[in-house]
Order: sequence, then structure tokens, then C-alpha cells
Amino acid sequence: MYTHSEELFKKSSEYIPGGVNSPVRAFKQVGGSPVFMHAAKGAYLFDEDGNKYIDYICSWGPMILGHQHPDVVAGLKKQLELGISYGAPTVAEYEMAKLICENVPNVDLVRFCSSGTEACMSAIRVARGYTGRAKILKFNGHYHGHADSFLKKAGSGVATLGIQVVGGVTEGVLRDTLVAEYNNIESVRELVEKHHSDLAAIIVEPVAGNMGCIVPEKEFLNYIREVCTKYGIIFIVDEVMTGFRLSFGGAQKTLGFDADMVTMGKILGGGLPVGAFGGKRAIMERVAPLGDVYQAGTLSGNPLAMMAGSVTLKTLLENPKIYETVNKTTDNLARGLHKVFSDEKIPHTVNQIGSMISIHFGEHSVIDFPSAAACDLERFKRYFHFMLKNGVYLPPSPFESWFLSYKHSKKDIERTLELSHQFAIQEAS
Ligand code: PLP
Repeated sequence: MYTHSEELFKKSSEYIPGGVNSPVRAFKQVGGSPVFMHAAKGAYLFDEDGNKYIDYICSWGPMILGHQHPDVVAGLKKQLELGISYGAPTVAEYEMAKLICENVPNVDLVRFCSSGTEACMSAIRVARGYTGRAKILKFNGHYHGHADSFLKKAGSGVATLGIQVVGGVTEGVLRDTLVAEYNNIESVRELVEKHHSDLAAIIVEPVAGNMGCIVPEKEFLNYIREVCTKYGIIFIVDEVMTGFRLSFGGAQKTLGFDADMVTMGKILGGGLPVGAFGGKRAIMERVAPLGDVYQAGTLSGNPLAMMAGSVTLKTLLENPKIYETVNKTTDNLARGLHKVFSDEKIPHTVNQIGSMISIHFGEHSVIDFPSAAACDLERFKRYFHFMLKNGVYLPPSPFESWFLSYKHSKKDIERTLELSHQFAIQEAS
């Protein structure tokens, strides 16, 4: 059934470390061989062996409109005829920047780059330049990309692979990264009280999506805002996952709080590599060539990437029904999953907000990294493989959020629930 994929994985492993270009794709935690994809359409992926899957990864977030949205594809074809890359400013960059500044809270100026990692890495450099301070505070199990400063107690692949200390990250860098517990005001208070005069920024995933999906408790983000204002610390909200997904204005708009800087990615590029960081004018005016904080990129603002991103963003902005639909579909999935596992008395937590959702197996509720890590990994592995075998492509780790698209239909949800029910019965017996 996966013969061709297995063969391709073997061949790739001869030339690419672990056979993949991003570690979580390797199925290392769940075991087995990763599936090599050939094509995608709407809510579906098609692998090299001809199998079809309902896709709950959506390229790890970007494909909120579904794969191969006709307007995105048409825009890309049009741009291909005009030019692939100029290394000079374009109208598309201006239009996209305007769209963001007019619709994402607390962004007066925005700079494009090519990944979420670059966006977050650049944002902390700006915060350090602006404040003249060295340390940053992040949260246990949060992932802001693979830049050195973020790889202490990181979520996503680092958590999935169980890497305690990331090789190659120097002690000096680790010293400048403080780590607090998500959803735990006391742990933030303790570190801020002690280090505020050295603290340039607090960076947070507003809804954690790299240890499964975990929603913030009511006062948590307000508290971060409060201490940042009190001590002149830059509040960076990492909206790489949540931006344009929870709402067009991201988590700031949906949950009602204000950051000083915002990082973006994923949906922003509509499936092509785009990241961005932006913020209040006084802070962003430190970015070169206006100021002394150097940041650059050969392919930043690439015309093809801007095309996929701007068509995606305009489609979302002009059709608010998309959010209504995809959120409702995800509500139904969440309710359904809870029901099928409850009916068979399989202890679990389904966390969901908007079109982000995940399931953890275990008795306790999942509110932070320790509670996510204490879940039943073996049951998750069995669930993952049961679903994969039956044509449902879930993230191969409980330390990842699932993402839905506008194209996921009632039928897709029913099929997913039917299979989950079969799995639950099997587990209960
Ligand atoms: N920030 C968050 C919240 C992410 O989830 C990710 C990637 O998953 C990143 C930053 C890094 O983005 P990229 O993989 O595009 O470098």
C-alpha cells in the first residue's frame, strides 16, 4: 500500500538527513515510513502510491482556502509569465504591506521575509536593538522557528524528538533565553521580577499550536501586556500560526489584546515561503535602512510568493463566510471527537479554537507543556496509524495542532468521526 513511498524514503535517506527536509515529517515518533505526496486538491492529498487522504495538516497551516484554490493558481500562472524574481521593489509588496497594516492590530510598518523563523528571529533582534537589552522570555513547549534563541524547551519537532539540549546552540545564547510555563502567570511574574532590566522581549504563541493546540487562559495574555508595559519590555505575539487563521486580525483581534510587535507566516504566503514581522512605528523605525538593526533577504517579497499570499489574503478579507464555515466545521469535528471517545470511555482532551484543534489521550486536562507531555503517546501512535491507513492524514505527533480548511466538507468530518469511532471501539475492547 505504501511501497513506492517506502522506496522513495530509502532513496531520500541516502542524500537528505533522515530523508526529510523538516524533522516532523519523518514519522520518527509515531514510527513507520513517511508518505511521499504527489498532488493535492481541496481538502485532499494524493500520495505516490495512489492513496487519497483527508488532509488535517494543510501544509502545517497555510492552506486555509484548501489546496489549489483556482484564484491562487491563476494568479501564480499570471505572475510566472511576468517574472519570477526581480530583487527590486514591486507594487505587490506595497499592496500586501498596506493590507496588513490596515487590518492587523498594532502593525504600523511591516517587513517581509521568507519564513516564520526569519520573522521571529528578526523581531527579537529589533526588540533587542530598540531596548538595548539582551534577554528574551519564551514559553515551555512554544516554537518560534529554528533560530538559536528559540530552541530552549521548544515544542514541535524538538519536543516530538525529545531533544533536551539542541546541539550547536551556545551556552551564551541559552543564558539569554528565559523560559516560563504557558498559562502560568506566577512563572512569568517570577522571571520578570528578577530580570526585567535585562529583558528585551516576551514572545508568545497566543494560542499554543506546537504542543497540540492549547488555548490561553483568560488573564494570561493580559498579564503579559501588563508587565511589558510596566517594565518597557517588547511584547511580541507570534501569529505565524494564528495570523489570518483565527480571524483576519489574528489572535489579537479574536482574543482582544494588544502586542507591540507581531510575527506572521504560513497563511500569509498562501503556500509559498513568506514570513513577516511588524509593529509599532517607533520600534520598526529601527529596522535598516531606516535604523541600525540590519535585516535582509535575497528573495524577500518575491513576486510569486507575494501573489499567492495576496490572493489568499484578499479572498479571506472579502469573504468573511470562510471563517464562519471553517470554524463551524471544526466545532463539529471537536464535538464529534469528544463524543466518540467519551462513548467508549477513552480518556482524552480535545482542545479547539477556530480551525485549530488537537486531541491528547489521558485523564488530565491539557493546559501547558507538562500536561501535554504526560499524555498517552502510545495510544496516539496507534490512532495516527489507524487513521493514516484509512485515508486520514493527521500530524504525526501529539505536539502539533491540526488545521482545517474551507474545503473540508461535512462528509469529510463524518468519515473522520466514523473512523475515530472504530478506533475507539478497538481500543476499548
Ligand atoms: N512560529 C510558529 C508559531 C510556528 O508554528 C512556526 C512553524 O511552525 C514558526 C514560527 C516557524 O515558521 P517556519 O517554519 O516558516 O520557519
